[in-house]
Amino acid sequence: MHVLIVGGGVVGLACAHALAGRGAEVTVCEAGTLGGGSTGRAAGGIRTQFSTRVNVELSLASVPVWESFADDFGVDIDYRRSGYLFLARTEETAAAFRENVAMQTDAGAPSRVLSPEEAAEYLPELRTESFVAATFSAADGVADPHSAVQGYSDALRAAGVDIRTKTPVTDLARVGDGDSAGAVDTPDADGWRAETPAGPIDADAVVVAAGAWSARVGSLAGVDLPIAPRRRQIAVVEPEGDLPADAPLTIDLDTGAYFRPEREGTAIVGGHFSGSDPDVDPDRFDESMDVEWAVEATERADDAAAYFGPETRIRNGWAGLYAVTPDHHAILDEVVPGLVVAAGFSGHGFQHAPATGEAVADLCLGEHACEVDVSALSLDRFESGETLRERNVA
Ligand SMILES: Cc1cc2nc3c(=O)[nH]c(=O)nc-3n(C[C@H](O)[C@H](O)[C@H](O)COP(=O)(O)OP(=O)(O)OC[C@H]3O[C@@H](n4cnc5c(N)ncnc54)[C@H](O)[C@@H]3O)c2cc1C
Repeated sequence: MHVLIVGGGVVGLACAHALAGRGAEVTVCEAGTLGGGSTGRAAGGIRTQFSTRVNVELSLASVPVWESFADDFGVDIDYRRSGYLFLARTEETAAAFRENVAMQTDAGAPSRVLSPEEAAEYLPELRTESFVAATFSAADGVADPHSAVQGYSDALRAAGVDIRTKTPVTDLARVGDGDSAGAVDTPDADGWRAETPAGPIDADAVVVAAGAWSARVGSLAGVDLPIAPRRRQIAVVEPEGDLPADAPLTIDLDTGAYFRPEREGTAIVGGHFSGSDPDVDPDRFDESMDVEWAVEATERADDAAAYFGPETRIRNGWAGLYAVTPDHHAILDEVVPGLVVAAGFSGHGFQHAPATGEAVADLCLGEHACEVDVSALSLDRFESGETLRERNVA
């Protein structure tokens, strides 16, 4: 069984790792460099605090991989389990938090509902008067996405996986399907042919793991994927106050602002605040940080906890892409025979990559080894209306 993975971000690499581990022959085609897409621009957050069971389960199945990554892959990913703190300003949000925690604990996550005063034990400068409730999970944390890419790619090379960087897939056709553009006329075959500038690649199955480019890659195969590239920013700041190095990644859900400690006394702040959220061209978007946005993000962080006063210095920052679906859940599905999609993670694909790899290996190989049932993430949910609702989006 030969599987071609389109995209060498963390998702594509995790898929390649799971497939190679189960004995498949794997080729990875990456248009640029490994991790050079959204993966290298992520905040590195890993959390079990989602509002749908499938997202919680993808996290619970992935966390053990991140925990033992240094031992298993020989690369330190700076995994820090300092938790995630979600903050609610309104009773409506607090009620949703209580529902979420009931579901999360039922699934096996150690989440808890806290009063603002209890939350301040994790974040001493929390502006408790602004909030009505919080949730915390000690299973949550952060890791370095660049190191994760390094670990996966080292392991893949050692396993003999064919990794081709600077090799965009420019067309995809079912071998034997005379109706497809560019199709190859071999009626008995049932695989796929990918075109690249270096020549064609034939495979039994293709995995679309092209992040924010996935709708484009899907269209090469004649498949419509509702995955929108949306720009998101991060600022690295030197906070005015002493944000503890072990402070949780904190999300003020009602404003969308989030922050977490970074190295050497700096912090990362993020969030999307504008009502306007246009699709962008993934090959031509502004990869730099807007200073006005960074000032707003810092002020909003300071509204939540008094670390980010006027003396806070904005050091640098960047913008990357979320691959957003209409219901903020990934598509994990064999959308036509032999074409598997693993994309549309809507801002949480780094953390879900390990479990996604196992789910994709199941889809490609017709196995049932993954402990997570991903059938709710099929493409046809957008037609059937059986979409999901992820409320914990930042
Ligand atoms: C600011 C920001 C913060 C984030 N924070 C978090 C976080 O805290 N936690 C979390 O879990 N997630 C976070 N994310 C989301 C996370 O980055 C993504 O969900 C994840 O990296 C997706 O990985 P991927 O491999 O699917 O996509 P990518 O890393 O984008 O990889 C896709 C690859 O496909 C390649 N490609 C495109 N077209 C082709 C083609 N035709 N042929 C070959 N290759 C192609 C691209 O070059 C790219 O390298 C964040 C994202 C952003 C932008």
